[in-house]
Amino acid sequence: MVSERMLGLGTARSVIRELFEYGKQRAAIVGAENVYDFSLGNPSVPAPDAVNETAIRILKENPDIIHCYTSAQGDAGARQRFADSLNRRFGGDYTADQFYITVGAAASLCCVFNGLTCPGDEFIAFAPYFPEYKVFIEGAGAKMVLIPPEIEQFQIDFDTFEKAITPNTKGVVVNSPNNPSGVVYSRQTLEQLAAILTAKSGEYGHPIYLISDEPYREIAFSGVEVPWIPHIYKDTIVCYSFSKSLSLPGERLGYVLVPGQVTDSDQVYAAVAGAGRSLGYVNAPSLFQQVTSLCCDMTADLKVYEENSKLLVDSLREMGYHVAQPGGAFYLFPRSLEPDDLAFSERAKQFDLLLVPGTGFGAPSHFRLAYCVQTDMIRRALPKFKALADSYK
Ligand code: PLP
Repeated sequence: MVSERMLGLGTARSVIRELFEYGKQRAAIVGAENVYDFSLGNPSVPAPDAVNETAIRILKENPDIIHCYTSAQGDAGARQRFADSLNRRFGGDYTADQFYITVGAAASLCCVFNGLTCPGDEFIAFAPYFPEYKVFIEGAGAKMVLIPPEIEQFQIDFDTFEKAITPNTKGVVVNSPNNPSGVVYSRQTLEQLAAILTAKSGEYGHPIYLISDEPYREIAFSGVEVPWIPHIYKDTIVCYSFSKSLSLPGERLGYVLVPGQVTDSDQVYAAVAGAGRSLGYVNAPSLFQQVTSLCCDMTADLKVYEENSKLLVDSLREMGYHVAQPGGAFYLFPRSLEPDDLAFSERAKQFDLLLVPGTGFGAPSHFRLAYCVQTDMIRRALPKFKALADSYK
């Protein structure tokens, strides 16, 4: 006998992985250059040279120390550098002891959900959403409540949201810039969200925490503001990652920030650390704690994502696709050309376009395009998108 839940997770069919495998099979038949794979969110730009140089320098200078365990919450110097960086950028007064360094945003989220959950608790997420939220929230023993998408702009349907908050609501998770829509929540959206959460926290007599999942914080297009959410809502806990900003997804490095202003911040921080311990994380990779903290004021060369976005949005709209305006990240979430997004994704395969159906993100009749790919591939894919659209005429 094994755990049914874990067995289910371990054997569940992954649409994205299946598309990826299908792409490899097709590439063997028609040639890799004739397969247009928009399925995976792996950064397409390299990490900055300074990241590699810093790693090499540390390995040469501190070979004995760097491979050792660090404090469970992360090296004190690294946490101080993260705090200094945010204070410079956002004008906060964050301190090293508010940071818990993690194995990427996925671990940040798991530590927060596990750290906060008491029996009966619920967390609200907004569709379209990162599907792992359900896995992480249920893994913590809580229930996920999903708010259907506001499909014009992918901001928030506040009426439905307000009705979904109950005395059991422990927290709300937001992700802006968003995977899969690429949309950035406006300051107005966030202020309205904060006003509702403040009122409901008062009504129910306990804080409703806002968990801000921010792996795409640095990937924002020109003229788009990504507001710093702790300045808008007091009870915000930040889950960050260097996977996308520094193009380091395989190195597994991020952090949880529990600002001092958060209600019961000391307890929340200790519970996050306790969750990290219970999940067996021990400490985040020692070398990359140093590397990311020494390089946290820089990013990979992210401008290609904006170029790719503009090329795709303009071209797809011209062909008749409906695309909500993205503000960052490296995803688009257009409407599928038939209501059944799974059938649409199947039909796209006939044109060797690998597009992920929206159903898995909680927003049927849409599809996700991950455009962290070479711009040249997008240019070559455009006639295929046109042919796909024409096939519906
Ligand atoms: N949250 C969102 C919205 C993501 O898109 C991802 C990864 O793609 C993660 C969290 C997990 O990121 P990490 O690689 O830092 O664990």
